[in-house]
Amino acid sequence: MVSVWRCVHCPRSDIRAQNSVEASQRRGYADGMSTLPPKLEMQRAYQRNDASYDGVFFLAVRTTGIFCRPSCPARPPLPHNVEYFATPGDAIMAGYRPCKRCRPLNTDGRPPAWVGRLLRHLDEQQGRRLRDCDLPTLNIDPYRARRYFKEHYGMTFQAYQRARQMGDALTQLHAGDATTSVGLAQGYSSDSGFREAFQRIFGQTPGRARQASCIVTRTLESPVGPLLVGATDSALCFLEFADRRALDTQFKTLRRCFDRPIIPGENKHTTTACRQLSEYFAGRRQSFDVPLDYPGTEFQHAVWSALRRIPYGRTISYEELARRVKRPGAQRAVGSANGRNRIAIIIPCHRVVNKSGQLGGYGGGLWRKQFLLDLEHRTPACR
Ligand SMILES: [Zn+2]
Repeated sequence: MVSVWRCVHCPRSDIRAQNSVEASQRRGYADGMSTLPPKLEMQRAYQRNDASYDGVFFLAVRTTGIFCRPSCPARPPLPHNVEYFATPGDAIMAGYRPCKRCRPLNTDGRPPAWVGRLLRHLDEQQGRRLRDCDLPTLNIDPYRARRYFKEHYGMTFQAYQRARQMGDALTQLHAGDATTSVGLAQGYSSDSGFREAFQRIFGQTPGRARQASCIVTRTLESPVGPLLVGATDSALCFLEFADRRALDTQFKTLRRCFDRPIIPGENKHTTTACRQLSEYFAGRRQSFDVPLDYPGTEFQHAVWSALRRIPYGRTISYEELARRVKRPGAQRAVGSANGRNRIAIIIPCHRVVNKSGQLGGYGGGLWRKQFLLDLEHRTPACR
């Protein structure tokens, strides 16, 4: 971990190679993660300043040491000087700095324009599902849609639509609509087909689900990559980097802790959290007041609550954190509780570092921890 971190400041060619397009394509085929479009397609995209590829890949220029989004207004670099990355984190880890013109780390919390268009279209369609072959009529490449939803929601576009549709069905059931009419409204021609699909997603029948509530999740674009934000009816319960490999396991834990399904959607808590996070990333917010729910063991709860009391812009050591929860010497145990924090950033586990001043670990990747600490350092806390 630490040796990779050091390379941010002194990039070595082997680390660059490890993060280059060929390597991520190899990785991609191996584990289905972080695939990039074909090289020629990316080349054409940045030469046209095509904003519809923003967020899909980042290009870095070897001669200047700078990385950009595909829509950068600067003069396009020569192809043989360009390296491609799937995430800004990969580009930073390979020793590149963000471009001052296109600001690849800055986002306003909104998804790229084409995703916004697609989501609006789904809203208007209510119940009618789009097939992959319908997407070209909206000027959207199905391959790109599949990749985007996989990376941002951990599921394909088709699975996203199914989950969202069932979320709508659940809302209608809560409103007291009859199961048959809800099924019909969602495009199911038979009652049994709807019941079966419903049970597959929620693990219970529509009748029983009337009383159940769920965890809604949405993504937020941020300078440290897309975040997944989740909340119950009463509080925020999840905030995580969408590209984390452990996401599946975390979802399982979340489902178990709260005993309810997770579906794409929004409520007032996700909306508040997203607004406050955007303000935080813009340097205009230092504390969060969205209600939180973080069930865990008594010890985990003590650690997470202690984390919430570390002020903005300050760091403490694992030793100090152990003392604060009255378990002096238990830095390993507090470290592990720290790593199990399900509400990143808002429960600021990034503010705990090694006694030596080194960053220590971070589930979301050390570049993100450094980014958050730098951000808080640049905008000092109000006195
Ligand atoms: Zn640029």
